[in-house]
Amino acid sequence: VKSLSANEASRLYVAEVFCSVQGEGVLTGVPSAFVRTSGCNLRCHFCDTPYTSWKAEGEHLDIGQLIEQIDGFGVRHLVVTGGEPTIAVNVDALCRAASARGYHITVETAATGFVDMPVDLYSISPKLASSTPTGEWAARHDRDRLQFDVIRTMMAAAEYQLKFVVGAPADLDEVADIVGRVGASASRVLLMPEGTTTEALDRVAAWLVPEAIGRGWRFCDRLQIRLFGDTRGT
Ligand code: SF4
Repeated sequence: VKSLSANEASRLYVAEVFCSVQGEGVLTGVPSAFVRTSGCNLRCHFCDTPYTSWKAEGEHLDIGQLIEQIDGFGVRHLVVTGGEPTIAVNVDALCRAASARGYHITVETAATGFVDMPVDLYSISPKLASSTPTGEWAARHDRDRLQFDVIRTMMAAAEYQLKFVVGAPADLDEVADIVGRVGASASRVLLMPEGTTTEALDRVAAWLVPEAIGRGWRFCDRLQIRLFGDTRGT
């Protein structure tokens, strides 16, 4: 086995780095640095970052330089997202370096694999049956999308939120099944409308908000779509 040089070992494959406000979840509105790793082991048909999944692209960036760039934003929250950050080589090195500098770290993940690293909030987005694409990725996506042990491990390792992308009322039965199987607290269950336009979000929100109220779960908007549309760097 060829060992990595020190230089290769400290790099992370990244699609984009930017500063914005968190658009989703319990920390919505919090000024945050975002590091979006490239590469995903799933292929949701509705993926809103296809440049990290269907056509992954990016650069191998040095962790030390990444931390310098993050420091330059002058915020205290770091969001590590993707793609699927838990499959990104050296994501643990980034989280260790950021944690040592006192950042609050959120990891946005579909929870298909666990990496032991410092995390303050696991933002877990289990992928529902309705996310499965057609074509050659369908079987693999469906096989890997729900790893209940991984979800439970993350829930025990840090603060958590379970954030479900919902497109149709039928999705809610599967949400209830997953929530029951992992024993999640209702106050940590967030229903987020599928959609990449304000109009699409509003259409789903019209029936999803009453469902959230009725079931004791939370509604979760996508502030970044409302503020910036479906664009990169937001
Ligand atoms: S898990 Fe996330 S990044 Fe991967 S394909 Fe699905 S929506 Fe895209």
